[in-house]
Amino acid sequence: MTYDLILRNGIALLGEELRAEPFGSLVVRDGVIIEVTAEQVPVDGSPERELNGAFVLPGLIDCHVHFDLAAHPAPFLHWDRAPFVRSMTCFHNGLLALRAGITSVRDLGSVDRMTLDYALQVDSGELLGPRVLAAGRPITMTGGHCADYGRIADGPDAVRLAVREQLAAGAGVVKLMATGGISSPGNPGLPQLGVSELAAGIEEAHKAGVLVAAHAHAPQGIANAIEAGVDTIEHAAFATDETYKLMLNAGVTLVPTVTALNPIADGIGIPKATVEKSLKAREIYRASTAAAIAAGVRIAAGTDAGTAFNPIGGLLDELIMYVERGMTTTEALRAATVTAGTLVRRVGDDVRVGVVAVGARADLVVCERDPREGLEVLRRPAGVVLGGRPVDLGWVEDTLTETASVLVEPPA
Ligand SMILES: [Zn+2]
Repeated sequence: MTYDLILRNGIALLGEELRAEPFGSLVVRDGVIIEVTAEQVPVDGSPERELNGAFVLPGLIDCHVHFDLAAHPAPFLHWDRAPFVRSMTCFHNGLLALRAGITSVRDLGSVDRMTLDYALQVDSGELLGPRVLAAGRPITMTGGHCADYGRIADGPDAVRLAVREQLAAGAGVVKLMATGGISSPGNPGLPQLGVSELAAGIEEAHKAGVLVAAHAHAPQGIANAIEAGVDTIEHAAFATDETYKLMLNAGVTLVPTVTALNPIADGIGIPKATVEKSLKAREIYRASTAAAIAAGVRIAAGTDAGTAFNPIGGLLDELIMYVERGMTTTEALRAATVTAGTLVRRVGDDVRVGVVAVGARADLVVCERDPREGLEVLRRPAGVVLGGRPVDLGWVEDTLTETASVLVEPPA
């Protein structure tokens, strides 16, 4: 019997608890972990790697990215650029993710089907990159958050149609705008799509087995999305203790993206109105994330990467923000693995993601020290395994250097 890969003599952070367990062999076949054992499973020509006591944890998952954006000061202008440039951005972002140990992402909105197509290419095995569960176009009301680029829909029937369009295009998750935003004109505190509109969209997605993410910053919009039956709340910058009680009772997962505002400052090319709104929101946002952690809300890690000065690969900084706001390092790691993994499953795929366990997809990160003792060791993981295939991180690094000059220049 031959296998995809055998890892030798490491320490796995196993199961939902991420409990450390030394192993002699971790065996992968058909992209799935089939055995973790103290024994030395005999070699029969299968590729193998000696780990010399290194730690093996689940590949990290960023639950909120925009893979065809390039973290420019006015990020959404990138959606006006040529498809060729944006497809190169996806490729580049895929490598940035892998270098940071990120093996799955949820792409929560593009201007067209770019990230859906990127996801298909990666799934086919023809392109090296992390697994992507993409939303297609985000659905928003007339004049709503991201209305310049999203799929505008007003009224329950229109939202229903807009969701069906995304599902027909291959969306693995649906994104609905329930409040205004910080990075677009208007008040982020105001509700947008209403309960009946959200409920119609959510019903369509759930019929297809697809989860729904609501962009929502403030209490009324969050309450609307929960009443409509949403699965995840994105951001929640202005949520209150009352809001978090609602989320707890409904079993809704929060994706904070609290690092997204960290780099925002005057004089770095971000529009003045956005800077003002971001700086005003930042401290409130950080406190609200701390309140969510204290309340025990289920949290999955996400960064909103692709937005201004927030490049793909910054997930570790988001986890560090969670630790600074009350999580243990193990809880922060679970937010980016076990919990996040429940949000990136594809319909009809029963292979688990985000956990080191028999029967789970072999998306793995290898690091020299125990990340529970200090997350910084994950800044540059020693190894990344994608569906049982070790990633050549040297090649990734070289290719990033080669392609960077084409991609980092913002549009003129
Ligand atoms: Zn976003």
